Formats: sequence, C-alpha cells, structure tokens
Amino acid sequence: MKKGKVYLVGAGPGDYKLMTLKGMECIKKADVIVYDRLANVNYLKEAKAGCERIYVGKASSQHTLTQDEINEVIVRKAKEGQIVTRLKGGDPYVFGRGAEEGEYLLENDIPFEVIPGITSAIAGPCYAGIPITHRDFASSFHVITGHLKDDENTELNWEALAGVKGTLVFLMGVANLKNISENLIKEGKSPATPVALISWATRPNQSVVTGTLENIYELALEKEVKPPTLIVIGEVVGLRDKLNFFEQKPLFGKNVIVTRAREQSSALVEKISDMGGNAIELPVIKIQEIEDNHELDECLSSLKAYNYLIFTSQNTVDIFFNRLREKGLDSRGLAHMKICAVGPQTVYSLNKQGIRPDIIPERAIGEALYTSLSQELKREDSILIPKSAIAREYLVENLSKICSVKAIDLYNTVTEAIDKDMILRMLDEDKIDYITFTSSSTVKNFIRGIGREHISKLNRTKLVSIGPITSKTILEYGLTVYKEPEIYTIEGLIECIIND
Ligand code: SAH
Repeated sequence: MKKGKVYLVGAGPGDYKLMTLKGMECIKKADVIVYDRLANVNYLKEAKAGCERIYVGKASSQHTLTQDEINEVIVRKAKEGQIVTRLKGGDPYVFGRGAEEGEYLLENDIPFEVIPGITSAIAGPCYAGIPITHRDFASSFHVITGHLKDDENTELNWEALAGVKGTLVFLMGVANLKNISENLIKEGKSPATPVALISWATRPNQSVVTGTLENIYELALEKEVKPPTLIVIGEVVGLRDKLNFFEQKPLFGKNVIVTRAREQSSALVEKISDMGGNAIELPVIKIQEIEDNHELDECLSSLKAYNYLIFTSQNTVDIFFNRLREKGLDSRGLAHMKICAVGPQTVYSLNKQGIRPDIIPERAIGEALYTSLSQELKREDSILIPKSAIAREYLVENLSKICSVKAIDLYNTVTEAIDKDMILRMLDEDKIDYITFTSSSTVKNFIRGIGREHISKLNRTKLVSIGPITSKTILEYGLTVYKEPEIYTIEGLIECIIND
C-alpha cells in the first residue's frame, strides 16, 4: 500500500499572499487538508478536486478537537496512504504545537516535513507599523506565550523579562493581560513603556489599540479586545505613526462585495485586497457553456462565409477558441476576418490567443462599436457574433440593418445560491461599504438572492456599477447608483472606490 506523508505547513499570519511557495505546493498536492482557525480559509480554494478538508480550529475556550484527537486524525489519514497537509497559522513551531504533532508522527513511523511560515509574532507588528527591532530602540526581541499553565506566575522569569531592553511579544495573552502588565511593572519595567495590542493582524479587519503598560489593561477592556491578539511591548511601538503602511492603504477596513462569477472575480478580488480592502466574494452567477453546440460547430466549419468576427466578453473568447482547437483548427482559420473586441478584458483574452483585434472601440460598450463599424460596413459583409445567451440584442439588431449577421449563443449564466442570511445581517449592521456590479445579470441575481422584499436594505450601502447598462438595471429596481466609472472596466470600477 502506498505510504502517506504529512506536511506541517505554516500558513502565515493571515494576509493571503504571505504564504511560502512550498506551502502552496503542499496545499495543491494534498489529499487531505487539516486546518486551524487562524489559517486563512481562502487557501482551501487551491486544493485539488476531491481533497478532504477537516477543520480542527480552536477558538480558545471551545476546542473543536483536542490535540490528541488532531494527532489521531492526521496519523489515520496518513496511514490510509494519503498526503496530509496540516495547515497551521503563522509558523508551525511558534506556539503551534507543531513539534508535538511531529513527535507523534515519528512514533507512528509516518514520514513528515515541516514548511516554516511567517509568524504573526513578527509580521503582525510589521503590519501595524512596528518594526520588531531597531538600532535605536530594540536590539533583541522575545516571543513569549501568554497562555500560562499555572496561576502562581512561576512559569516565566518575570524579573528577567522586565529587565530586557528588547521588544517583548506575547502570543495568546489577552486573557492574561492584567497579569502580564502587573508582573512586568512589579519587577521594575517602566509603567510608561509603550504597548500595542494587535488583533487579526495582516487581515483587512486588523485593529490596533495602543497605550502604556500602566493603562493598557483598562484600554483593552474599554475597546473589548479579543483573541487573536498580539501584545507588543517596547519602545518600537512608538514608530507606528511613521511606519504604518498597511492601515494607510486606500481600502483598509472597507468591506466590498464582489458579485461576479467565480471564474471571473479574481482580478477584482485581488485588486481590492492589494488596496487593503476586504473583498467578499459572492458569485451570484455561474457561467454554463452550452453543450453539444451544433450551431457553433457549423459556424467553425464555415468560417470562410464571414468577414467580421465580434467578441464582447472574455467568456466568448475562451469558449470560442477552446472549441476551435477541439475541432483541430487554430487561429489561422480566422486570418481572413476583421476581428472586433469590446472591452480591455476581451482584448486581453484575444491577445492570449495570439490575436491582435483590428477594431477596438474606445468605450467598452456595444454602442461604441456600432458607431465605428457602421461607417465601414457594406451590404455584402457578413458578421459572426458569438455571445452569451442572455446578452443584449443591441449589436445584433442594429448591425443586421446594414448587412448579414449570424449570432450564436455560447453560454448561459445561471444563478448561484448565496449566503442570504450573512448578507442581510451585514447590511443590517451597516458592515458593507460597497457592492460592485459588473453586469445586469449580477444585479438581477443578487437581488433575487437576498429576496426582493429586502431590496430597500440596499439603500444602506453604496452600489457601484461598471457601466451604463448595469446602472440602468440598478435604477430599474428603484435603487441608486452611487458611482459609475468613466471607463467601463474593472480598473475603472476600482478607481471609483479608491477615489471615493
Ligand atoms: N503559530 C502561530 C501562533 C499560534 S498561537 C504563529 O506563528 O503566528 C496563537 C496566537 O498567535 C494567538 O492567540 C495570537 O496571539 C497570535 N496570532 C496568530 N495570528 C494572529 C493574527 N493574525 N493577529 C493577531 N494575533 C495572531
């Protein structure tokens, strides 16, 4: 029987991109992923189809599985011959009980590797604008557990810790904050020493409370600081005002809903995250290619009959070229045609196919293409338009008045179920800053998803539309379009939000 293997992988502090290449490789090849509360769940999207996911998260008091049970699960899965990736927040060996899991695997004769991760102890302060060392303020740093096993305070050498000039970082320490600050002051550390409490560090919901050893406990109570939180003690905390790059990002702290189909949302999601925002993916539509598309096949067999080819979306380009290849053809079959593309994403997809479109209207909208085409088209021309089954008829209808037009449907968009309760709750609590709509069908399906009876709740947030057609649909529901970009692209849409 195939022998399994276990990878103990550090998932980093939370920011999706703070994961090692090696860690990502282990996620992709895993048969089973066993993951913690602090590992960013978005990594699971990279798992291969059929990969089993087991949540063993611990929320301080309510353990989902005990450590023994976690060990058992990992060993059992590996003994079944599976590749197990054990994802742990931060670094597996920094208070992650990674060593215990490793020892247990060794006892059970199961091969394993450890992939280090970026620990929150260093990255957390960094994202809060606090360098863990500095030539003028801290020549060492000390990472300490605040989750102490005994009540007598004998586990740590408080006298030594109070005497240290470097930076002290306590993990798992919020519940013990009073104890920690009192002990340090008692052993001689200045009550005026700066302290920062960093919660959900490196995530879009990062929050920071600063004070001094003397008042930090009161402040934490007042601000209701909860785990996961890092306690950073030392003069370096004072640099936060200067070095705080993360919280200054234009979308920091903003929740932005992305309603696009999952296959298409990544560019938008990535841009929102890069700007420090929290992109909430709610793909309300799914692209469903029309199967056994005889009409398309017929067109592909008679391409010579057309001298214009129009693409208005990335999906049509992708589906069209896939089928072209499946039929044993390639882009040379299109050499005699003028190719038109609406929208930069469509142009980009065509470029990937080795095609540089002949006509690209300045504005990303069918009307603009019509204006430029209508000047050159003659009666004997023949246009092929591969399109979505629910696309507007504008181009087909108007171009047909000039010459012959063949439109073929390549795909449908079908509704995806969304977590209605979560959205309604967030809307009620005014937690959603923007909802982005990139097509009329995202508007329709989003409203269907939350239920038409709740439509007035959308007045509590800012609806951003990609362009006039989408805006028209929003207005037809009696809602207000907060912003629409001058250039109808994803970049334009992001600009609207950033410059708000
Ligand atoms: N192995 C992890 C630490 C596990 S112990 C690492 O290297 O980061 C769990 C503690 O880590 C939490 O109680 C909290 O103090 C800290 N922690 C981990 N991720 C954090 C985050 N994103 N923000 C704040 N604290 C975090």
